[in-house]
Amino acid sequence: MENKSIEEIVKKVLESMTGGAAMNASAPSVSRAPASGNSIPKTARVAKLVEKGRFEIQEYPLPEVGDGDILVKVEGCGVCGTDAHEFKNDPFNLIPVVLGHEGTGEIVKMGKDVKKDSAGKDLHLGDKVVTCMIFKDNPEITMFDLNKQNVGGADVYGLLPDDDVHFNGWFADYLLIRKGSTVFNVSDLDLDSRVLIEPCAVLVHAVERAKTTGILRFNSRVAVQGCGPIGLICIAVLRTMGVENITALDGNDKRLEFAKRMGASKTVNFKQYNGIENLTKAVEDSFGGHPADFAFQCTGSPVAHANIYKFIRNGGGLCELGFFINGGDATINPHFDICSKEITIVGSWVYTLRDYATTFDFLKRANGIGLPMKELITHRFPLEEINEALKTNLSMQGLKIAIINK
Ligand SMILES: [Zn+2]
Repeated sequence: MENKSIEEIVKKVLESMTGGAAMNASAPSVSRAPASGNSIPKTARVAKLVEKGRFEIQEYPLPEVGDGDILVKVEGCGVCGTDAHEFKNDPFNLIPVVLGHEGTGEIVKMGKDVKKDSAGKDLHLGDKVVTCMIFKDNPEITMFDLNKQNVGGADVYGLLPDDDVHFNGWFADYLLIRKGSTVFNVSDLDLDSRVLIEPCAVLVHAVERAKTTGILRFNSRVAVQGCGPIGLICIAVLRTMGVENITALDGNDKRLEFAKRMGASKTVNFKQYNGIENLTKAVEDSFGGHPADFAFQCTGSPVAHANIYKFIRNGGGLCELGFFINGGDATINPHFDICSKEITIVGSWVYTLRDYATTFDFLKRANGIGLPMKELITHRFPLEEINEALKTNLSMQGLKIAIINK
């Protein structure tokens, strides 16, 4: 076969995989048009939280795009527990604010200085991106300096108070990614996967923290307590790493069913057991009569935190990641629970930039081995129904709620 015809075939195959984007892959970069093909409007909408419990859709002129800036047309954004807390009580004092930090979209315009993403990948018009954090104080920081720096100390789009730009959060038609922000080209992931990147990064980070104990191994018996999105994704991350002996705990049979599909080998519904002794026995029975080598605490319940020590063997490990916000004090017995058992405990909160990059590969692996990641998104709302979306989240219906544009 002639080289030319092989080239043609390869082009055709790539085209069918990428919906035409590959046709331009070898053409001079910059000229690539946005896949949406729409021209950029003069004005666009943001969903602004104007008071506790109420977003208002407001229209603003789209901002100037500076030499180091990127204008993104938003495709979707997950609703986070953080958004729900802010919506309900404004604990972060951000109102008025355009929320939404689990978003993704397509580059429709970028400044002349923008060439590569934070991992060194080329950026073009039409590429799909996510943002991670913004280092206002030190824009020179690159991702590989940051292996140990948690996002907790940085700003994030979607948690910035409103200003003259307005397009500061992903609950909007457009987002202006300003110079000095981190941005990743994730064009090789579909929309649902991209919406799940942020919550998945939380679990990639937690498992990385767990690994520092040296206790988590392929053949470990692992208990995952709490089967909300966080616990379910925790199971998926463990499963993609090759951990197979996983017991999921929750009080809801539907969620436990889902946990099994995510890779849990056994489940325990704590509501079926009276008292901590019986519950501990049920967990041990799930491991063939052994306590867990390692446990992940993925609920925000103080009682659940206190209980989990009982499930762990002497010399075992615990990762506490459920208390994302202050959920109150837990009562434990330091002698029985920690000291005499020699338990190694790590806390985990948010993620680092490095975890973000790892998460893209995790999502590909999870999809590749058939884990039902996309079913985590149980509710989808258009931007104009954002108040409903937040209320749905607060009413604890479903798992992941997402705003999907268009
Ligand atoms: Zn979040």
